[in-house]
Amino acid sequence: MSTPGIPHRPEGTQDLLPDQLAAWSGLESAARQVFHRYGYQEVRPPLFENTALFHKSTGEATDIVEKEMFTVPPRGEGESYTFRPEFTPGVIRLLIENQLLKQKGFWKVWYWGPAFRYERPQKGRYRQFHQFGVEAVGSHDPLLDVETIVVFAEILKGVGVTDYAIRINSMGDAKCRGAYRDALKAFIEPNLASYCENCRRRFERNVFRVLDCKVPADRARNERAPAMIDHLCVECGDHFSAVQRGLKEAGLAFDVDKRIVRGLDYYTRTVYEFSSARLGAQDALGGGGRYDTLVGQMGGPDAGAVGFSAGCERVILAMEAAGVKPSAAATADFFAVAADDAARPEVFRAAQAFRAAGLSGDLDYEGRSVKAQMRSANRSGARYAVLIGAEERAQGRVRLKKMDGGEESVVPLDEAVRILKGANP
Ligand code: AMP
Repeated sequence: MSTPGIPHRPEGTQDLLPDQLAAWSGLESAARQVFHRYGYQEVRPPLFENTALFHKSTGEATDIVEKEMFTVPPRGEGESYTFRPEFTPGVIRLLIENQLLKQKGFWKVWYWGPAFRYERPQKGRYRQFHQFGVEAVGSHDPLLDVETIVVFAEILKGVGVTDYAIRINSMGDAKCRGAYRDALKAFIEPNLASYCENCRRRFERNVFRVLDCKVPADRARNERAPAMIDHLCVECGDHFSAVQRGLKEAGLAFDVDKRIVRGLDYYTRTVYEFSSARLGAQDALGGGGRYDTLVGQMGGPDAGAVGFSAGCERVILAMEAAGVKPSAAATADFFAVAADDAARPEVFRAAQAFRAAGLSGDLDYEGRSVKAQMRSANRSGARYAVLIGAEERAQGRVRLKKMDGGEESVVPLDEAVRILKGANP
């Protein structure tokens, strides 16, 4: 709800407040740890790319490109820019443009950051949201598909989310997909008029997307549609079997769901989704798959690749639903208290000495009374209050007061630093 006269944030965006960010930091550090353990390196492409990049890679016939892009029109002779609706095109461009794939043929990279889609906002669906994910480029090995799925599962485990389902499917490759496309078209065509408007359009532009439709009547009809996994060529069939064997060996439960096609154009062979029944309508935690032709299509080498992208907001919602309580911000070591106004510069100097020694803490900047400063000390969770008044200044010392026991001592500043450091748990 916005209040008239007060500036408000754009629809579909969120302000992340200090209380919420404990969960975000927990997720980010869990993700970093897993990426590190599995040998993925971080990359950071810009927030926006030339619009043409998404048209060529994400695909003309996708919801994203058709209606969800935040695009800045060209100025004068310039290019049109689009705030990234997903990371994969930018990350692959980064690998190609910086010649990384020339240095070595195989890369495993990860990313984290905001993404933008002009969608109808609702719980779990925003116009600015955040994604983390991986791209593993330069291999056709089905075990790499397995690894990316394991990495996602490990991150979820790291933040205490265990209640989710993994569904996988295969989209085949250029060799077997043509025959399947014909079979699917032949199945839909006689009833095309009864499909929803979106499906009728998708039928022409990218018939696989008809299987993505959420309209109940279309879903029901699609139950009987031929499935890609029944039309796989030998190589794609072997690949899919190897992925399933690998997942079983990794101890991950999954279902094969022939309806998963994923909304993007570039997928080949393995596709997968992680979902949580606790999330309501927007139940996808993330998803990914193999995209063996994209790197070549974008001007890079002919390199097999696989990756996933997860929605941070969704994972955070799943953490909340699972009752995961992220630990609050680390408590402070000290709060420095001025017993009178004349002591304030000295209190500031003392706080700086503690901080320089690696201790954390704060002081009052509002000219508050000693009693109010002690209340702040309490609220901050500091282990020690450091008081300075006329008496301490005259002695060149500070008064240390343990917040839990009330035990006090008056000591020189460097001794106080030693005590607090020694007491550092
Ligand atoms: P996609 O590539 O579209 O499957 O997106 C990957 C993941 O990002 C999804 O599974 C969601 O978790 C998340 N995501 C996508 N769009 C949004 C959005 N508008 N708001 C929040 N999360 C999103």
